[in-house]
Amino acid sequence: MYKMSAKPLIEANEIRKRVATLAREIADVYDYDILLSALTGAYMFTADLSRELAVAQGEKAYQKTIAFIKASSYGNSTTSSGQLQVRGLEKIDIKGKKILMVDDIADTGTTLLGLVNLLKESGAQEVRTCVLLNKQERREVEITADFVGFEIANEFVVGYGLDYAENYRSLPEIWTLQETD
Ligand code: 5GP
Ligand code: MG
Repeated sequence: MYKMSAKPLIEANEIRKRVATLAREIADVYDYDILLSALTGAYMFTADLSRELAVAQGEKAYQKTIAFIKASSYGNSTTSSGQLQVRGLEKIDIKGKKILMVDDIADTGTTLLGLVNLLKESGAQEVRTCVLLNKQERREVEITADFVGFEIANEFVVGYGLDYAENYRSLPEIWTLQETD
């Protein structure tokens, strides 16, 4: 059984502020063509980030496109199966494009590295990655996200799009889930 922490790990207003500064950091250095978002976990982050990017980019925002793929590697469990499944990429014209790959969290790094490799194999001109959360301690493969919202410890988190067995996604804050006996 799992239980939510008594207080959020990251409050909604902290997330809002960091997403705005993160968008400026991205807009300052990367004039991408496509913001590619990994469903489902990154849906809330993507909605907020894309609005802040539009503010930071000014008129450049008019030409940016946004697309979604479904990447799954976790079943209904808090440990990775290590298998990456990607759906929906065939509908997106990746060739020669500069991609900003957005995901909710980099844990072992398997998902992000798998996505980057897949996009490069699909002919992307450039791929840079952005995650809301990074658990550096858990890394098992060599990948460094180019843009990171928050560094967090080795804890399982939910809320702001992130789920546990499809629950908790709509919470505006990020919470830690603790195992109970
Ligand atoms: P990785 O491939 O880096 O091990 O895992 C990435 C994926 O695992 C994320 O996109 C996310 O779906 C899931 N994941 C990893 N850590 C957490 C966590 O603390 N909470 C939740 N809800 N999902 C996580
Ligand atoms: Mg995910």
